[in-house]
Amino acid sequence: MRHEPRPGASPFERLGAHFDEVDRVCPDCGFEDADGRWTTTTTGDRVSYRHVCPSCGSIRKRTLDVGDR
Ligand SMILES: [Zn+2]
Repeated sequence: MRHEPRPGASPFERLGAHFDEVDRVCPDCGFEDADGRWTTTTTGDRVSYRHVCPSCGSIRKRTLDVGDR
């Protein structure tokens, strides 16, 4: 199922959907967290993502610069 970005959707929503689709497999143990979610934290122009693997407990972090575009 795909969610098309709607006009007016925030950049955060679009980035979140992106991560949901492509990055659910833990690089450490290979567990696919099908129901997993990246926790999003926004600080200014920066979005931080955090995901904890339910299988091995590995924590992954991503930081994106959103900026004004
Ligand atoms: Zn894992």
